[in-house]
Amino acid sequence: MSAADRLLDDLVVANRILASEGICDAFGHVSVRHPDRPDRYLLSRALSPELIVRDDIMEFELDGTPVGGDGRKPYLERFIHGSIYEKRPDVHSVIHSHSRSVVPFSITEQPLRPVVHSCATIGHDVPVWDAQDSFGDTNLLISSMEMGRDFANVLAEGRSALMRGHGSTVIGRSLREAVYTAVYLEVNALLQLQANSLGPIKFLSKGEVDKIQSRLADSLPGEGYDRSWEYWSRRAGIDPSNPKATLQER
Ligand code: MN
Repeated sequence: MSAADRLLDDLVVANRILASEGICDAFGHVSVRHPDRPDRYLLSRALSPELIVRDDIMEFELDGTPVGGDGRKPYLERFIHGSIYEKRPDVHSVIHSHSRSVVPFSITEQPLRPVVHSCATIGHDVPVWDAQDSFGDTNLLISSMEMGRDFANVLAEGRSALMRGHGSTVIGRSLREAVYTAVYLEVNALLQLQANSLGPIKFLSKGEVDKIQSRLADSLPGEGYDRSWEYWSRRAGIDPSNPKATLQER
């Protein structure tokens, strides 16, 4: 099995995990950079993540043009993915969602920041991009490379960023890291919202965030991102040791 073949299976698994963990509902999407063509990325046609199978995966140029004249309907907001891959050579996966606990932090003044150890991969700061700033009244969707690049500039070198009144986007150096961060961005937001009802919050320090991030990045096979991937795969009804066997049917 080639690296590209394995990655296609993993991309389908990632879609199922994001659906079963409630990060994506009918909307939201996950991509990976093409393993052999860094100037391309892989992303499903426009479809709910729960329903995606391998044949739904399309290949795109970084500017969002489907490769090979593929005429299937793509996600409108695919420009989020290409804009980040274009700006950040270190990024190999991007996830956009509207996971609910995150949204309040995009429309109020309190910044979303790591409050618990498992959530350190969301980054030190989680900036908020506001379409209004550069584009005035829009439908809030990132529907062009111009908007995508504006968002990527706000994300800058970070791990995650919010879109005001809309949702969030996270990156990963790998697909598994991106899925981990997408799940724990939602967890962090929920815990931060709950903690606010009790009083002032003690956030993780910058040093704590750095140490947790490097521990996860240096973890051995089966630990860290792999361990959560196996757990979430099983919850999504997929055998993590043989995903292909459980991915055939929609
Ligand atoms: Mn969206």
